[in-house]
Amino acid sequence: MERETLLATLLLVLGGAAVQPLVLLPRRALGDRSPQVAERRAWRQLWVPLLPLFLLGAWLAGWALREPDPVPDRVAPGVLLAASVPFVVVAIRAAVRAVWALVRAPRDLPIYTAGLVRPRVVFSPFLARSLEEGPVRAAWEHEQAHVRHRDPLRIWLAQIATDLQWPWPGAHRRFAAWLEILECARDDEARGCGASGLDLAAAVLAIARAASAGSPRRGVAQGMAIDAGLIGSGRALQERIARLSSPLPEIAVPPVRTRLGSAVPWAVAVAMLLCAGAVGAAWGEPVLRPILAWTGSL
Ligand SMILES: [Zn+2]
Repeated sequence: MERETLLATLLLVLGGAAVQPLVLLPRRALGDRSPQVAERRAWRQLWVPLLPLFLLGAWLAGWALREPDPVPDRVAPGVLLAASVPFVVVAIRAAVRAVWALVRAPRDLPIYTAGLVRPRVVFSPFLARSLEEGPVRAAWEHEQAHVRHRDPLRIWLAQIATDLQWPWPGAHRRFAAWLEILECARDDEARGCGASGLDLAAAVLAIARAASAGSPRRGVAQGMAIDAGLIGSGRALQERIARLSSPLPEIAVPPVRTRLGSAVPWAVAVAMLLCAGAVGAAWGEPVLRPILAWTGSL
């Protein structure tokens, strides 16, 4: 069997199986921390179930580097390919939805942030005509916060991570919870930049009304949209308006994150992947040999 084909098949079978236990973990409460801190925590919760998949991928890549091509005939391709079918379906579904999210028309909203690589705020004359200067500025600050954090790209990646955990409902709940706290975090950032909470609440309500009065595509549900709008999830709208109408709590001021502090999680992740690859190169063969031999005996 071709080495790369075997690597991809093993990644689908073993990686797909490794994801399942962590997907079933209950969602941890985000606590009463500031929305910015809670948003980062919710973001990590989206990716934790996929951690075994990434580590296994690095481990298998390390193993494959020392494996001859083609792999000796102790492998039973039919057994491995049959076992990979459920995970192939999940992967194809995730890929199709990821492409569709890129090519579909953006949500029909008066203001939103679009663009994966270079996010930009798309602004409709509706806002200027129907709202006063304060709410328009507040909406603009909210969208600028989406731009600073490259949220369209993050929403797209989060949707892919969620789709790779399909069909478990817990994954979708984690995604929905992250989208809700994301909007609160951007609200607080906009208020920290000088926007008034009441102005922002007025803008959110006006756009939500326009969305509900418009075509079905203007619905407030995020769906498969990857553009970061002002209104987010309709379910949390009431709670969000109440929050915006209250003074910005002290706890909402996020701790200052230095560039070094932001780089630490990435450095840890890269170190873990390199370690997994090294372990796979050193000890992958003794571990995989009995597994492959077992499939050959079926
Ligand atoms: Zn938003």
